[in-house]
Amino acid sequence: MHPLGVAIVYMEHKANFTFKGSLGDILPITVTPCQHDYYFNGKPSVKDAIEAMGIPHTEVDVVLVNGNAVDFQYLLQNHDTIEAYPHGSSLSSNYSISGSAPVQNGFIVDAHLGTLARMLRLLGFDAWYDNRYTEAVIAPLAASENRIVLTRSAHLLKHKDIKWGHYICSPNTEEQIGDVMSRFDLSRNLQPFKRCMVCNGLLQPVPKQQVAHQLQPKTREYFNEFWQCDHCWRVYWKGSHYEKMLLLIDKLRNVHAGE
Ligand SMILES: [Zn+2]
Repeated sequence: MHPLGVAIVYMEHKANFTFKGSLGDILPITVTPCQHDYYFNGKPSVKDAIEAMGIPHTEVDVVLVNGNAVDFQYLLQNHDTIEAYPHGSSLSSNYSISGSAPVQNGFIVDAHLGTLARMLRLLGFDAWYDNRYTEAVIAPLAASENRIVLTRSAHLLKHKDIKWGHYICSPNTEEQIGDVMSRFDLSRNLQPFKRCMVCNGLLQPVPKQQVAHQLQPKTREYFNEFWQCDHCWRVYWKGSHYEKMLLLIDKLRNVHAGE
């Protein structure tokens, strides 16, 4: 027993970790620099060690131990040298642990990222969002629906039930959408005017006369093509918001072309 009455646990083993690329941005400030020693007893899995250092498993796609690719269940040995790579590195094509993300199943967006959810829907992607979603709700929902979790909580992404997710670093919405498009290679699958921004419902073309009573006089005068949400019945048309959306899509496509 320590003289101050604190039980000291001595760690018998040591492994050296290097976090590559964007993984360094996620590390808590207490764990930087990107290369450092991890002390342990017994044989923890490499996944548990990585998460203990602050990086959710969802952000890691390739792990090399002493130069050899392993999966998350690998059990650490004394004196191991570990390199962890994010998704999209040159090693992912041969050594990806997780494979392709199920983008077709859609996203679950945490309660702090409502604007990101609306942007994803605007671009045609299925994005579940509710500002009442707690971490206790999101984890089982993501597991049962096999959806991708987008969150600013590294803690949430460490949940054992979450297989797919992405940690959103930036507080800026445009950077967030660019980051998500890049991470999940979305730029080839944009489908504007497919989903309702407000409720995620699907939009259907609708005759003007059917929705005329919901329109402002100027909208009724200048526009002839309309779409209606099949869930909340909101009506959409290619007004100024549509022009802004096209500009944003162009910008995002240009930024992420060739990635
Ligand atoms: Zn709707």
